[in-house]
Amino acid sequence: MAGATANPDVDALVAEAGAWLDEHWSPELTVGDWWDRLGNSGWGFPAWPERWFGKGLRGDAARRVISERLRRDVFGPPTGISTFLAAPTILAYGTDEQKQRFLPGIATGRDVWCQLFSEPEAGSDMASLQTRAVRDGDEWVVNGQKVWSSGAQFARYGILIARTDPDVPKHKGITYFLIDMQQPGVEVRPLREMTGEAAFNEVFFTDARIPDADRLGAQGEGWRVAMTTLSNERDPNNPGMGPGGGSMLGKPDLTLTVAEYRRRQSEEIDAFSFAIGGGAGALFDELVQQFGVAGDPVFRQRRAKLHSDRLTQRWTGARGKANAKGGQPGPEVSTLKLGGSNVGRDLRNLGLEAMGPAGMLADGDAPAGGIFHRYALFVPASSIAGGSDEVQRNIIGERALGLPKEPDESRDLPFSQLRTSRRPGA
Ligand SMILES: Cc1cc2nc3c(=O)[nH]c(=O)nc-3n(C[C@H](O)[C@H](O)[C@H](O)COP(=O)(O)OP(=O)(O)OC[C@H]3O[C@@H](n4cnc5c(N)ncnc54)[C@H](O)[C@@H]3O)c2cc1C
Repeated sequence: MAGATANPDVDALVAEAGAWLDEHWSPELTVGDWWDRLGNSGWGFPAWPERWFGKGLRGDAARRVISERLRRDVFGPPTGISTFLAAPTILAYGTDEQKQRFLPGIATGRDVWCQLFSEPEAGSDMASLQTRAVRDGDEWVVNGQKVWSSGAQFARYGILIARTDPDVPKHKGITYFLIDMQQPGVEVRPLREMTGEAAFNEVFFTDARIPDADRLGAQGEGWRVAMTTLSNERDPNNPGMGPGGGSMLGKPDLTLTVAEYRRRQSEEIDAFSFAIGGGAGALFDELVQQFGVAGDPVFRQRRAKLHSDRLTQRWTGARGKANAKGGQPGPEVSTLKLGGSNVGRDLRNLGLEAMGPAGMLADGDAPAGGIFHRYALFVPASSIAGGSDEVQRNIIGERALGLPKEPDESRDLPFSQLRTSRRPGA
């Protein structure tokens, strides 16, 4: 039987998933109703624990359940920072009470989340962050600024790292919080990027408040918790990254029928979601056909190289998955992140070349409504987001290959004694 494995347990699970989908799925449901059903069934995120909106499946089993859904063209679960960054971190470090409070809104797509890590002077060197959180009774009071916060303008909650102790070395005085974005002390200002879209934001905190109950992990443990978030961000196997429904950005309209939502999504998808959702590869194949370049020997050779690089990525991903310890990805995901940036650039270059002069058009004048062109403008971002290519090389060198650490004389000094912590306004 096509797609079957020698593992009868997995076959039975896939059959069970298929039967559930047959009974419950309809494109005429509203997005909200469908995500409620799918989220609560556990089949939306089969790799998540059974107790928390999943089925506790690993590797091949989880992959085959997702393939079964795709094969039936069933709309996937919500995707976004909520599912691919917040959820795995809450699952790893959250108390049961926090999981109970935050995971339902994530699994059913009701709550959009954003990531509040980067600051104007703390991107690659994230441990130099200056946003302060000061304890005030049962709450923390937050002041400072974040930047490049994707989707913050739509977010209900944010995952935030802030400095809670400036008198210890920079990596040690950071704490991780789950912050309510819809409060007076949080101001979000969109930034427009070269795709024409405003995916990013600056976020300013002025006496914003966080209950201590919304601290994730121990005080001062924020760096370790943030590394879990970042490993998941770099992991293309991340089950919360898709292929799902919804978009990376924006707030889904839960009242639309799935059929209508899908129709609009195919017309209005943003470059970020298109890139993350893997739409570019399929569109590239269509463009190659449409422009009749498949038979050109030089093009064919470069396309074959691209194809083999994509397969290498897939197999490296499978190896990373097999090596994942305790369900969390290891430093080898940096290899995948780096490889993904290279594949993205090659796909962009070949796709634009395939279109010939039409590769220079834009928006409505361009093939496919210009989405490949906006994707082309987005591609450089993948070499930066989640840690730049250079930073991935450092991680591969230090944590995967065991090479000596990059010299950093500030590593052991109290943060309050560093030059960065004494800048005006700090
Ligand atoms: C599409 C996109 C989405 C993003 N979304 C978010 C988000 O939602 N939330 C969030 O918090 N952040 C987000 N970011 C920000 C991202 O994490 C940072 O841009 C990234 O970490 C780099 O930081 P930086 O921009 O400050 O660059 P810098 O750290 O200033 O780096 C500048 C250059 O110096 C190089 N460099 C720096 N340090 C080293 C080193 N030690 N060794 C070698 N080279 C080095 C870098 O590789 C880079 O080329 C997003 C970025 C992008 C592009």
